[in-house]
Amino acid sequence: MPITLKDVTFVYNPGTPMEVIALNTINLNFNEGIITGIIGPTGSGKSTLLMLLNGLLTPTRGNVVVDGLVTSKKANLKTIRQKVQLIFQYPEHQLFAETVFDELTFGPKNFGRELTEGQAAELLRQVGLDETYLKRSPFELSGGEKRRLAIASVLGISPKYLILDEPAAALDPVGKETIYRLLLSLKKQGVTVIIVSHNMEEVAYLCDQILVLDRGRIAAFGEKNEV
Ligand code: ATP
Ligand code: MG
Repeated sequence: MPITLKDVTFVYNPGTPMEVIALNTINLNFNEGIITGIIGPTGSGKSTLLMLLNGLLTPTRGNVVVDGLVTSKKANLKTIRQKVQLIFQYPEHQLFAETVFDELTFGPKNFGRELTEGQAAELLRQVGLDETYLKRSPFELSGGEKRRLAIASVLGISPKYLILDEPAAALDPVGKETIYRLLLSLKKQGVTVIIVSHNMEEVAYLCDQILVLDRGRIAAFGEKNEV
């Protein structure tokens, strides 16, 4: 089952002078097993949309439904968060642990999965790092390494949907390539990937489907070649 948005409107600070309609009456389906790229000018609602997909935000009007579960129902949230993992634009701002091992295994542990050192090392390898990182401090990693660590941690939760805000921003060409290869291999494994990107080359290379947002509305949505 896909993620479905039905008549979704999201308003920040509703009913106040600071009111912003970030998304306006959005209807769409994110189908499974493909990579969707979301593009659009700054302030068009891209990040807001991502936060609606895992229930971090709930619609002001309308519904977001993940595999048949509506995000606005509190009892559904734990299941939805396991299925839909969201990696922010700057995941490095959320680091907290003393070692890469602790940082990496914290999220999976929250979902009942205790990872061994061997399993943690395997996740690091998937993102182009290795087991020598496990005992290091996450704070001492480079920006690109921190980004990869965030992705490795999320992979330990085996999400069905992986959502990334600017997955390759500020990475060097090798780092970008590692992330691209990883996302394409996740797609092969049946993971549904949704990315926000300002980089058109990246979107053209990676994505099967493109969603264009403009001032909170859908400007275009379809196969890469049609948009
Ligand atoms: P960017 O490309 O710059 O990341 P975006 O497309 O991700 O932009 P959003 O962050 O979704 O845009 O913002 C959509 C609108 O909502 C903007 O007008 C923004 O100013 C407003 N907005 C975003 N976050 C908040 C907030 N926490 N409180 C109030 N308004 C907000
Ligand atoms: Mg944004």
